Amino acid sequence: MEHVDVIIVGAGLSGIGGACHLKRECPQKSFVILEGREKMGGTWDLFRYPGVRSDSDMYTLGYRFRPWRGAKAMADGPAILNYIRDTAAEYRVDKMIRYNHRVRRASWSSNDARWTVEAETGAENTVVQLTCNFLYLCTGYYDYESGYTPEWPGVTRFRGTIVHPQKWPEDLDYAGKRVVVIGSGATAVTLVPAMAERAAHVTMLQRSPSYVVSRPAEDKVAILLRRALPDNAAYMLARWKNVLSATFFYNLARKRPNVFKWMVARGVRTQLGKQYDEKHFTPHYNPWDQRLCLVPDADLFRTIREGRVSVVTDHIETFTEDGLLLKSGEHLKADIIVTATGLVLKLFSGMQLVVNGTPVDLPKTLIYKGMMFSDVPNFAFAVGYTNASWTLKCDLAAEYVCRLLNHMDRHGYSTCTPRVNDADIEKQPVIDFNSGYVLRALHTLPHQGSKMPWRLHQNYVKDLSMMRYGRVEDGAMEFQPAPPPDAETQYTSPRL
Ligand SMILES: Cc1cc2nc3c(=O)[nH]c(=O)nc-3n(C[C@H](O)[C@H](O)[C@H](O)COP(=O)(O)OP(=O)(O)OC[C@H]3O[C@@H](n4cnc5c(N)ncnc54)[C@H](O)[C@@H]3O)c2cc1C
Repeated sequence: MEHVDVIIVGAGLSGIGGACHLKRECPQKSFVILEGREKMGGTWDLFRYPGVRSDSDMYTLGYRFRPWRGAKAMADGPAILNYIRDTAAEYRVDKMIRYNHRVRRASWSSNDARWTVEAETGAENTVVQLTCNFLYLCTGYYDYESGYTPEWPGVTRFRGTIVHPQKWPEDLDYAGKRVVVIGSGATAVTLVPAMAERAAHVTMLQRSPSYVVSRPAEDKVAILLRRALPDNAAYMLARWKNVLSATFFYNLARKRPNVFKWMVARGVRTQLGKQYDEKHFTPHYNPWDQRLCLVPDADLFRTIREGRVSVVTDHIETFTEDGLLLKSGEHLKADIIVTATGLVLKLFSGMQLVVNGTPVDLPKTLIYKGMMFSDVPNFAFAVGYTNASWTLKCDLAAEYVCRLLNHMDRHGYSTCTPRVNDADIEKQPVIDFNSGYVLRALHTLPHQGSKMPWRLHQNYVKDLSMMRYGRVEDGAMEFQPAPPPDAETQYTSPRL
């Protein structure tokens, strides 16, 4: 059976980043990336809806080790995909990807100090097995098979086209058509102004409003820094500027929600003028109980002002032959209905983890440093922040995996296992969001603990000090020495 030091599962933004970290910081390690799809890029290859873009800035969504040189800070999906591909090529990790390898199961044996990873390959679904010393899952957080669509009455009556943004038909022609986009999240606020460029009219139909904030698509300070300084220095400064300002505004939102609400409302009112209706832009929850929606250069507000987009806050009574009947009695006519109703949250795409013959029961585990599980040896995962750019955390997690591997090599350890050895630690929900997709999946997720290193900070500066500079031997991580080589190996090993 083929054996490598590390198996990375997933060739998206975090899997490619993890592989580059291994190349840079553990050049002695062998590794492969197993990717279930036929292409790299994950999210940025899968999502093809009009206008698809980041909603956080690329100076923090980009990798720490490779400057973002694109013009826009909030970048278009294809530009992000190119950045991932170029990074993979530059570090030659593209050669390490095994496409069409969908991992279904990974089982750890303490006797062998190894994982056996089973992947289905190709159309025949042949199962291949590989072994590794360390398993790093970079599989994202949602189900790739399909997005979330609530059950509505009368859907089959509708004679037009229904589309979910996760499965956007390449040939969908919406020029001159009446479009209704159901949803109020990041996808809806991206799609609506983009479709309004060609559609006859777009209506954003939301059950309840979100906080919507406009940000410049281009970061003027970052551009100035780039003109004045070498690439790497400019990138680092822009990255820190954005980390600190995002942290400041997040803290303001959590500690002074009324001030933050007032600021957001004032921004929307200024943009929409007479067309401002607080009913559509005043959420019932506090800022950052759910993700904020960022719109570049106020594009959503501009299209509302121009009359090409309208917002309706109401509930669906039923689909009809030519649109949607709402609870208020209003009827929205539509040729195309886009269900921007979210993702299905699914950790590790449902793959099974087994430790010494016992399946890992995720809700019973505690998360260690936001990247490992209690009692699961030689294993890490990449999951980013909910309140800041994903890559900020995934970069730190990959860096920590490399620190761990190098530490184990230096001390002759074969196994590292986070252990909860403090009786005072209380279990808490892993995410304090109340978004639908989180609440629907909360019972399937692991927990966080009440204290370090089991507590999730959701804060880059705190994580940076813990993961880059904190001790690897922190009392919670248990290390096992490598078993002594067997008699034959001892006899034949060259003596140095
Ligand atoms: C439309 C959209 C916009 C977003 N915008 C932002 C943003 O602006 N800022 C931000 O911080 N975050 C954003 N996110 C979150 C986003 O998912 C992350 O930023 C990031 O792209 C995730 O990268 P990833 O590599 O961790 O996961 P993914 O991009 O999901 O990649 C996971 C990869 O793993 C593969 N895989 C999964 N399971 C298996 C398996 N069992 N076997 C083999 N391969 C497997 C998948 O095929 C995929 O290629 C956005 C998400 C979406 C959906």
